[in-house]
Amino acid sequence: MRNSRRGKWDLETRRGVGQVLIIEGCHIATADAAGTEHPTGYLVLDGDRIAAVGAGPVPPPYAGTARDAGTERIDGRGLLATPGLVNTHHHLYQWITRGYATDDTLFGWLAALYPVWAGLDADLVYAAAAANLGWLALTGCSTSTDHHYVFPAGGGDLLAAEILAAREIGLRFHPCRGSMNLGQSAGGLPPDTVIEEHDEILAATEAAISQWHDPSFGSMLRIAVAPCSPFSVTAELMRDSAALARRAGVRLHTHLAETADEEEFCQATYGRTPAQYAEDLGWLGPDVWLAHCVHLSGEAVERFAATGTGVAHCPTSNGRLGSGIAPVRALLRAGAPVGLGVDGAASNESGAMLDELHQSLLAARYRDGPLALSARQALHLATMGGAACLGRAAEIGSLEAGKLADVALWDVGGLPGSGIADPLCTLVFGAPALDRLFVGGAPVVSGGQLRTADAGELAAAAGRASALIAGRVQVRS
Ligand SMILES: [Zn+2]
Repeated sequence: MRNSRRGKWDLETRRGVGQVLIIEGCHIATADAAGTEHPTGYLVLDGDRIAAVGAGPVPPPYAGTARDAGTERIDGRGLLATPGLVNTHHHLYQWITRGYATDDTLFGWLAALYPVWAGLDADLVYAAAAANLGWLALTGCSTSTDHHYVFPAGGGDLLAAEILAAREIGLRFHPCRGSMNLGQSAGGLPPDTVIEEHDEILAATEAAISQWHDPSFGSMLRIAVAPCSPFSVTAELMRDSAALARRAGVRLHTHLAETADEEEFCQATYGRTPAQYAEDLGWLGPDVWLAHCVHLSGEAVERFAATGTGVAHCPTSNGRLGSGIAPVRALLRAGAPVGLGVDGAASNESGAMLDELHQSLLAARYRDGPLALSARQALHLATMGGAACLGRAAEIGSLEAGKLADVALWDVGGLPGSGIADPLCTLVFGAPALDRLFVGGAPVVSGGQLRTADAGELAAAAGRASALIAGRVQVRS
């Protein structure tokens, strides 16, 4: 499986300690706890860290540093600097199964797609993940999760395939080893052909943690444990997965309270709401973040806040599937961590990380009125909120000295942004273009182009993979 670009990335594009990049003259939205902004400021990146950030021209010892001293400079005038965006929920493989069941409920959409996904293998997952991660980078995302829960028998090492893609594209990556073990014959939603056995899941998850998980500061790769949902996983697997994650010191992730259908399923099967069911199984806590959480009672919102349980808010996907609007304002008021997620490409279709800021703002206001969410709060969700969900608030999510050099530079002066008085409004209400993206100080996007891979090649490979998986389902039926 294709590794020619990996060597190039490791050797040529990572920034070493002592290699300094100075960005001057840009508007800086630090997204720190005080919401500090510098209308004209500087950023100094040294190796994979942020060395300094502040207002005005860069001070000594960086002022006047010559290019031949290993220092690069960027004229940031007309640019907005923000932290790289954090995507807290995704299914990368779905990039090659977009455009299916576009007018259906979650359960109808899943029923249409499970048989398609049964045709997945490592090569298809690689092509889907590489294209999808390339697009995430081009839309400002520097750290992405992935929740992979379909492991067809004989499909190869799907987790290794997406990890290779993330290394090549150069994003910080949190693959969540998903699972399904509650098939239709036992009262679940997925067909029995796409589920795995309880013991096999736990063994594979444990192996993934020991093979891949890197807990160090600055880690490019962390594993989470992620059984899929209440209607595709047994309560026993939920409990055992939580125990495994806590033994191994990794985080827990799943879908919860996404639709009214799920609420009905939980009431009928367990006599509990999804949030009560999760709490019964040990699935609320500071090491847990949950996707969607659209249908939460006031009491559940309070429990999330009291336990430090994070929420991956996915407004585009919730709109695409007509699932409802999550109570983001109430969650923020109560003090629960909230991040943003594009969710799987097949229930989003666009998959652009930047769009989620725009959608989160609109969705909150559709639901709770004009004061429900501000542009600055939307940026917070996409940065520090996401970092908190992933347990990385000390490393990423804000532009502060000592943190990792994950930085997005947005062109807010081009045609779409020209004339908007506030660069943050251009970012969230408008349509800025991404100029550059640095991950750990390394340039992943520059001049609006992906630097770590050829975007045209990624698209062509994803197109071929999409045709292949569509052909496979026809052969089987
Ligand atoms: Zn999802």
